[in-house]
Amino acid sequence: MGGDPRLKEANPDAHRLWQTKLPTKIIFSGWLLHHGRLNSRASLYHHHIRKLEESYCEQCSGTLETDSHIFSQCPTGHLHPELHLPEDVHIDVILLMLWQIWKARNALIFDHKTSSAGDVIRRVINDMDSWSCRYKKTRPQWNCWRDFLCSRL
Ligand SMILES: [Zn+2]
Repeated sequence: MGGDPRLKEANPDAHRLWQTKLPTKIIFSGWLLHHGRLNSRASLYHHHIRKLEESYCEQCSGTLETDSHIFSQCPTGHLHPELHLPEDVHIDVILLMLWQIWKARNALIFDHKTSSAGDVIRRVINDMDSWSCRYKKTRPQWNCWRDFLCSRL
């Protein structure tokens, strides 16, 4: 993100993304989403790359596949974290969720593999376990989020 403090001020969340301890590919997908640059079908439609009738969600006929549809309205991505969860690793876990929702979306479109919301949550928990060694200092917060996800299965 460069060292320009004005950039950080204008976009504190984007700056925070790069402070997480997650792999770059995951951070980068969150960064693209933050800047509205993920190649959702709606975005391809708005850039005149797809036709309107080819820009609907794979699962929800007649609904434009926008970022907000993929990540909060579509049944696969429908997972609203509760407010009492610890702030410290909030962005980290949200990034993992976005990453797995996006991967499930791609698997459906390109490989015709469906995933339930539970499948996505299980993959996020697996990711959390894989990366937990990077979160030793925030282990209690990390586990708090993990428990929350387990409670949604
Ligand atoms: Zn949908």
